[in-house]
Amino acid sequence: MMRLLTAEALFGAGYDVVEAADGSEAVDRFGELAPDVVLLDVVMPEMDGYDVCRVLRGLPGGAATPILMMTGLDDVDSIHRAYEAGATDFITKPINYSLLGYRLRYLLRAAATFRESCETAARLARAQRLARIAHWELDLQTGHYHHPRAGLEILGLSPAERDASTFGLAPAIHPDDRDRVEVALAGREAHQIEYRVVLPDGTEKYLHQEAELVDDELTGRARLVGTAQDVTVLRKAERQVLELAYFDSLTGLPNRTFLRQYLARVLGNAERDGKNLAILALDLDLFKRVNDTLGHAAGDALLREVAARVTSCIREGDMVASAGGNALERALTSDSVAARLGGDEFVVVLGGIRRPEDAAVVARRIADRLAMGFTLGTAEVFVSSSIGIATFPENGRDAASLLECADAAMYHAKDSGRNGFQFFTPSIHEAAKRRVELENTLRSALARSGILGGHGESHRGGSSTRALSEFELHYQPKVEIPSGRVSGAEALLRWTSPERGCVSPAEFVPIAEDTGLIVPLGEWVLRTACRQAKEWEATAPTPLRVAVNVSARQFREPGFCALVADVLRETGLAPNLLELEITEGMVMQDTATSGEVLLALKQLGVRIALDDFGTGYSSLSYLTKLPIDALKIDRSFITNLGSAAKSETITAAIIGLSRGLDIDVVVEGVETEAQLDFLGQYGNAEIQGYFFAKPMPVAEVVAWCGVREARLAESSVARPTEQETVAPQPSGSGLYRAVKVRTGT
Ligand code: C2E
Ligand code: MG
Ligand code: MG
Repeated sequence: MMRLLTAEALFGAGYDVVEAADGSEAVDRFGELAPDVVLLDVVMPEMDGYDVCRVLRGLPGGAATPILMMTGLDDVDSIHRAYEAGATDFITKPINYSLLGYRLRYLLRAAATFRESCETAARLARAQRLARIAHWELDLQTGHYHHPRAGLEILGLSPAERDASTFGLAPAIHPDDRDRVEVALAGREAHQIEYRVVLPDGTEKYLHQEAELVDDELTGRARLVGTAQDVTVLRKAERQVLELAYFDSLTGLPNRTFLRQYLARVLGNAERDGKNLAILALDLDLFKRVNDTLGHAAGDALLREVAARVTSCIREGDMVASAGGNALERALTSDSVAARLGGDEFVVVLGGIRRPEDAAVVARRIADRLAMGFTLGTAEVFVSSSIGIATFPENGRDAASLLECADAAMYHAKDSGRNGFQFFTPSIHEAAKRRVELENTLRSALARSGILGGHGESHRGGSSTRALSEFELHYQPKVEIPSGRVSGAEALLRWTSPERGCVSPAEFVPIAEDTGLIVPLGEWVLRTACRQAKEWEATAPTPLRVAVNVSARQFREPGFCALVADVLRETGLAPNLLELEITEGMVMQDTATSGEVLLALKQLGVRIALDDFGTGYSSLSYLTKLPIDALKIDRSFITNLGSAAKSETITAAIIGLSRGLDIDVVVEGVETEAQLDFLGQYGNAEIQGYFFAKPMPVAEVVAWCGVREARLAESSVARPTEQETVAPQPSGSGLYRAVKVRTGT
């Protein structure tokens, strides 16, 4: 009856009503019907209303559905029981049906609002979790701190600490940052601050906190309302970027960028406080050899160990080699710093020295520690170092000039026997200045001559053959003994500078090598020599082979072999008429790669000569491995022939050795008849030296060869069996010698 009346009334008020006969039916159909609101009578057959209410609350969706209980008993106890069972509201009988309709409408609206607010809260919590933001409020009157559950872990709080009545953050805040946070909060006003919290497992988080002051108009109480965002990932990324920017990843030492800023700061301080400072430029001697012979991994290990030793020499404990933590701040504020500028170049800045001599003590210590052996894998390696020292304020007041001075002194130390240190002096300055000036002059000469393009790249063909070139090739003939014939000529670069006159290649070639200018210049030499040799072919009675010097830098350029092939194709010169002179050092720097390049060159049909043989490593083993056609015995042996017995032995041995290996011999620097006589004993060789001819411009050398060929032909017809009695001829004593040698053997 009650059900019927209620259903009728609600239906009339616009509700959709479904009835259940008893409690169990209600429970059974709840899931399927998913009602917006449930009306329950307390007194029902089998299950009473309280039980049904309890069961419904446990069903899926049951918690959020409003349940209205209809009690006939207007006593406090029933009402209690209804709420305990989970009822949302109750209404007592007799029921006022028009009131019931409104009651339900209110319940439904409240339920919808509640659902929405739950969803909003969930969305907010999700958004905060994703943004790693925690929200908090601080009641300034009570000092009560409030933070919703969602942000606890971000703030580094355990749920127990959440309700700590006063400053709840305190235990988690990093001890170093605590004071700052307390000051910010004590200010009782809007602030922005960044601090760290330490989680129970010891990890650190960076929090960025923003707060504003809210005056609650209703309560009249002021609150600080704020957010704390976890910016750990950002800060770590920033630190990594800083480390990449300021530290060398291999050794962990500060890098060039760091050094620049560091020097600007310490020099400023030194200037202000009238302090002294020293800059040490350090370079490992023969580091490249370690890299090439033991591999790059060993080279890297060596550099790391060098970094550690250098660091240990400058005030133990003052600097930390690792870039971890706040290495940047530590390094920036320390007195002395060791930095790696790249390759095997290190710089040490010594602050707080009293006299320049103090720097010498450190330099000696570094040199000694580096001179001790390094164990790299199974190999024990010894490297020495060269150190140049510049001091502030004596040698300069700014970073650039001090570094320049230290560098110049370092080069000087290297030149004057390695493993030592050298203070910067004015004479070093003079030499360095001359070098820089020469480099500049060379650069502009190359640009003027069209050898160096506008952007520093090399020029191919075209303008590089311009007549106004300050660069020219001279050729020095090579004469075969005993035949006396000209076998070829070496192309030697000449530079006549309008400012400086003739500059010796011995002076400018090393500069061109150091600066890389040798690459375009060498290309020009190669192209010009091949072109001139080709032109020469048309006039010369016999084809002449042209020898071109190749510098290490050129040889190591990846496209070198392709360049040679291009030039040969362009000029049309037969490959066997080109001989490339390389030095032992170049081959030794990296035997594997050199071997490949040499083989590729051989495949082009080009000849390879080893220049200045006997002055470098003179390792005989590679002579058997690499495709070498000729050895050029260095001039120093020939110069000493008469005076040093050993030179004779060595020269004879080299000639014998080459013959055994089927390698041709070229003897450089033959100036006297006595020297030629000595060489004559050992049979075939090519002779290059002032005795026959000095290097000459191309036109002269062509003429010289012509005259020589003619004389040779004439003399062999006129005096085929001439003996030692032949008188020296007024000109061309070389011809005379050649004839004499031939008939004499
Ligand atoms: P190098 O390749 O060993 O050339 C031989 C040097 O010895 C030349 O010096 C030559 O003039 C000199 N010479 C020849 N015969 C005698 C002699 O009988 N007595 C004396 N005292 N000297 C003699 P130059 O022309 O001054 O060249 C010096 C070095 O410069 C060359 O040594 C070579 O290493 C380098 N060079 C010259 N031209 C080039 C070039 O085009 N490219 C490269 N990369 N290096 C070059
Ligand atoms: Mg040479
Ligand atoms: Mg030579």
